[in-house]
Amino acid sequence: IALPPTVTLDGRFARELPELALPWQAQEVPDPRLLLLNEPLAAELGLDTAELRSPQGLRLLVGNHVPEGAVPVAQAYAGHQFGGYSPRLGDGRALLLGELVDAGGELRDLHLKGSGRTPFARGGDGLAAVGPMVREYVVSEAMHALGIPTTRALAVVATGNPVHRETLLPGAVLARVARSHLRVGTFQYARALGDVALLRRLADHAIARHHPAAADAENPGLALFEAVVAAQAALVARWMLVGFVHGVMNTDNMTISGETIDYGPCAFLDAFDPATVFSSIDEGGRYAYANQPLAAEWNLARFAEALLPLLHDDQEQAVALAVEALQGFRRQYSAAWSAGMRAKLGLPDGLADTVADPLVDELVRQLQESHVDHTSFFRALATAARGDAEPARGLFLDLPAFDAWLQRWRALGPDADAMDRVNPVYIPRNHLVEEALTAATAGDLEPLGPLLDAVTRPYETRPGLERFAEPAPRDFAASYRTF
Ligand code: AMP
Ligand code: MG
Ligand code: MG
Repeated sequence: IALPPTVTLDGRFARELPELALPWQAQEVPDPRLLLLNEPLAAELGLDTAELRSPQGLRLLVGNHVPEGAVPVAQAYAGHQFGGYSPRLGDGRALLLGELVDAGGELRDLHLKGSGRTPFARGGDGLAAVGPMVREYVVSEAMHALGIPTTRALAVVATGNPVHRETLLPGAVLARVARSHLRVGTFQYARALGDVALLRRLADHAIARHHPAAADAENPGLALFEAVVAAQAALVARWMLVGFVHGVMNTDNMTISGETIDYGPCAFLDAFDPATVFSSIDEGGRYAYANQPLAAEWNLARFAEALLPLLHDDQEQAVALAVEALQGFRRQYSAAWSAGMRAKLGLPDGLADTVADPLVDELVRQLQESHVDHTSFFRALATAARGDAEPARGLFLDLPAFDAWLQRWRALGPDADAMDRVNPVYIPRNHLVEEALTAATAGDLEPLGPLLDAVTRPYETRPGLERFAEPAPRDFAASYRTF
């Protein structure tokens, strides 16, 4: 068996919430071929990499070998997609294999994406192509290395089967690991069933797994809501600080754990522009870079609606409690973002808001006006703190304005080493990700090596990786779209 005797795959979600779990099997994969295996993550999970690479291990990673006692399930959930409610989404092409206890004693979901049609597939084929699954692997591991809560990628296995998109593409299954796959949409689904006991069981399950302190609160449902508000405020602030655009912040893609999930049309800012949208389907710019905090708050309002019966017996009082708790989002988001910006600028602790806030606002204005490469700027600014301002100055159009800003900033005594600990050199730049995905789709995994090397140690400048630190060619950046 591929699982060592010390590792067991539990079915806690399916056992505690059978109404939300549909037992299902992965599609048979006759010729699985390992494209990527995350050895450090495997070790964290207590999994043996030699075993995972074996024929039986590959069968486990595509869901064809089900360890004894495990019951793979498709999870049910609903969701608001671009503002419109779909009562029944669910895992159309994914399966929860079960949960395992990691080396730190934490429960982690082992989940497959691209494992074939399920009863939630609607019009979909249940499949995934190599490119998008490799993208999820690269970007989620980069996010993890940046210290941003995220689902993790354990492996990508090519199926040998074609997937029909605009063209024929090679198919793949992603093995994903998460603190759980509970989403705002999971609660919306339970709420819509009208079964308050189920909703309570779901909340208890979420509290036990992610926000255990809420169990002891006077109002556990409200405490759960507050904990998710706090986790999402912190998460979205981290996205904004690193220039991440999720691209499809539907309520089914917002986790209760506070982990980033669903790396579909996501991409990173090159030039700083609040209106940046990469996703080809986001025509109205609903999920544009600068709208992400608002989208998160909107999703949390939907979460509150789903939780209302647990907040208070009286509907009006329940709404009042939810509204008050939701107000915490803006406060916590702003505090996290401001603290993050001060750290990015290497500013000393305890600086008055009246000094820091206008400095940050003026910088944001100049970054936008000069279309400055977001990631390059903050490293170049550390170089300025060390005495050489030219690399930073070279990014701006209005030099007198930037020089004036630099003078104000320098007077505060910024700490260059502290800046380098929070400002990445390497992010998964869109043009480099595309290059590696195109190659992987054609069967060439070579370009993935240095890309993964760069983005999984994002803060350490290393020789030989220079091109991974450089902005995209302008014509690429201007027309980049994700699907
Ligand atoms: P997403 O936009 O990736 O969050 O997916 C939204 C919904 O569409 C989820 O219910 C997915 O399971 C489902 N879905 C996405 N792609 C496919 C596919 N190729 N086959 C079946 N279902 C899919
Ligand atoms: Mg999704
Ligand atoms: Mg998706």
